[in-house]
Amino acid sequence: MENRSPWIHQLNHKRTIETLHSDIETDIAIVGAGIAGVSTAFFLLKHTDKKVVILEGFKLAHGATGHNAGQIAGYFERPFREIVNEFGLDMACLAHKDLEYAWELLDEMYTEAGLDIPLVRLTSFSGLSTQEQILGHLENNFLRRSGGLYTRTMEILETVDFLDEIPEKYHDLFTLVPREEIALKLETFDSQYIAVLSGQKGVVNSALFCQEVTAYLLSKYKDRLSLYEHSPVAKVVLKDDKVILDVIKHTLTCDKVILCTNGFGNFDIISPSGLAIDTRFHHNLSGVVAFMSGYLEPHTGTPAVLSYYQRNAPGLTDNPGDPYFYVTRRSYEYEEKALHNLVSVGGPDFALEEHAKYSRDLEFSTTAKAQLDEFVSRTYDKTLEKDYAFMWHGVMGYTRNLLRMIGPDPDHSHLLYNLGCNGVGILTSIFGGYKVARMIKGDKFLPSIFDIPKRI
Ligand SMILES: Cc1cc2nc3c(=O)[nH]c(=O)nc-3n(C[C@H](O)[C@H](O)[C@H](O)COP(=O)(O)OP(=O)(O)OC[C@H]3O[C@@H](n4cnc5c(N)ncnc54)[C@H](O)[C@@H]3O)c2cc1C
Repeated sequence: MENRSPWIHQLNHKRTIETLHSDIETDIAIVGAGIAGVSTAFFLLKHTDKKVVILEGFKLAHGATGHNAGQIAGYFERPFREIVNEFGLDMACLAHKDLEYAWELLDEMYTEAGLDIPLVRLTSFSGLSTQEQILGHLENNFLRRSGGLYTRTMEILETVDFLDEIPEKYHDLFTLVPREEIALKLETFDSQYIAVLSGQKGVVNSALFCQEVTAYLLSKYKDRLSLYEHSPVAKVVLKDDKVILDVIKHTLTCDKVILCTNGFGNFDIISPSGLAIDTRFHHNLSGVVAFMSGYLEPHTGTPAVLSYYQRNAPGLTDNPGDPYFYVTRRSYEYEEKALHNLVSVGGPDFALEEHAKYSRDLEFSTTAKAQLDEFVSRTYDKTLEKDYAFMWHGVMGYTRNLLRMIGPDPDHSHLLYNLGCNGVGILTSIFGGYKVARMIKGDKFLPSIFDIPKRI
C-alpha cells in the first residue's frame, strides 16, 4: 500500500514550484518547510525586517506536517513529572504556559493570513486502563496544580479495586463515575478503560495550514521572502561571521541559519572548531516512524479527539515516547464539496536504526496494519481491513531528552534550531518559530527546557 495521506490529498498539486537556480545571499535561511519552518518565517517576517529564504529538500508540508494526525495538543509526550524532576517545577510550568500561548500564536497566524480552512477546538478524552497510568497522571496533575496550572478532574470508574491505594493528596483531583460515563466519553464498550482524562485539543490539516500561510507570506512580503523547493541542503558551513549552505550546485550565504528539519540528519555541519557541533547534533537525534490509517463514514459533523492508553501498549518496538492509540474524527471533503466523516487512527510506530534513512516510499508495515485493524475491531466493533481510504506514515525526530530544541547553538550563535518533534509537534513548532524570531529581534527569554543542551 502506497503512503497516501488525507492531508496531502487536499493540497493544491498545481502550485508553481521554484528551485534554487543561482548562488544567492540573504539575512536568514530557514531549512525545512514544514509547520516549524513556516511558523518561523511568519514570525521573523512580522517581528524583524530581515530577508528570509526557506529551503525545502522536497516539497512544502510534505514531511511530518503532511503525515500526522492533525491534533492540536498542548502537552509533551514526556511525562510532566519527569520534566519537573529534571528541570524543577517553575521551568516545567513555564514550558506549559509557552504551549498555552502557542494557541494564541496559532490564532494570530490563522487570522492574519485570512484563512478559512477548517480548524476546530474541542474537548478531547483519553482512556486509561491501568492503576499505574492513573497514578502517573494524578501525579502529573498534582504537580501542575502545585505550579498554578489549570488541571481538569480525572474520572475514575467507581468500582475499581484499588481506590484505597490512591494517596490522599490526589483525592480532590478525581471523581468516581459509572461504567456508562466512561463508555460514552470514549465511544467504546471495551471494558479495559477504567479512567478518563479530558483536555482541550484542536483539529486541523497542518499541511493545508502551511500551504495557505505560505501563500499569504509570499504575497505580503514579496521583497523579503523566497521559498525554494526540491533544494536539499547538503552542508551547513559555519564561518565566524556568516553561514554558507551547499544546495546541490549552488550556495546560499546568510547571516544566520535556522534548522527546522524535524529530525532529519541528512546534512553535515562544518564549524571553525571542527566537527564537534555536527557530532553533537547527529548524536542527539533519532527517528521514529509512525503509521496511521483513515476511513470514511457518513457525515455527522461531530468531531472527536480520543486517545486510548491500553494495557498492552502498541508499538512495533519500544519507542522513546508513551505509546497509545489516537483517533480523530472530523468533517472531510474527500471529493470536492462532498463531506464525510474521516476517522483517522494512529498508534503503531518503530524506532529507525541509527543512521538508517527514512523513505517516504517505505511500504506500509503489515504488523502496523494488523495492529490498527485489531484496535478498530476491538474498540468500535468494525471490520475494515479493506476499507481504509488512506494509509500513511511519517517520521518524527526524537531528541535524547525528548524535548524540542529551540534557540541558538551554545557554540555558534549563527546556527539556530526549531526542531525535535518528539511525538507531538504542531504547537511546539509554532511556539519555537515565535521564540526564535523574537530572539533574533533581540528579545531575552528566561532559561527554558527547550534550550539546547551544551552536552548530550
Ligand atoms: C504519524 C504522525 C502523527 C502525528 N500526530 C501529531 C498530532 O496529532 N499532533 C501534533 O502536534 N503532532 C503530531 N505529529 C508530529 C508533527 O506532525 C510534527 O511534530 C510536525 O509536523 C513537525 O513539523 P516540522 O516542520 O518540524 O517537520 P516536517 O514537517 O517533517 O518538516 C521538516 C522539513 O524539513 C525538510 N528537510 C529535512 N532535511 C532537509 C535538508 N537537508 N534540506 C532541506 N530541507 C530539509 C523535510 O523535507 C521536511 O519537509 C505526528 C507525526 C507523525 C509522523
